[in-house]
Amino acid sequence: MRITVDRELCCGSGNCVVTVPEVFDQDDADGLVTLRNAQPPEHLRASVETAAQLCPVGAIGVTDQVASH
Ligand code: SF4
Repeated sequence: MRITVDRELCCGSGNCVVTVPEVFDQDDADGLVTLRNAQPPEHLRASVETAAQLCPVGAIGVTDQVASH
C-alpha cells in the first residue's frame, strides 16, 4: 500500500491527522498535510481508506504497490 497526498489540494482541515496520526501529519509552517509514512503496514489500511474518504478535497490517494523488483 502506498499513500500519496496532494498538497496543492489540501486545505489543512486535519481530518487525516486525527484519523491516522501514524501516517499523516500537518506541516508546522503552513498547516498542510505531510506524510509520516508513505508505505504504512497493512493493518492501517482500513483507517487510511477512511481518512481518504473523509478528506474534504480528495487529496489522499491509496494505491497498491506494484512490485518493481
Ligand atoms: S484531510 Fe485532506 S484537506 Fe484535511 S489535512 Fe488531510 S489531506 Fe489535507
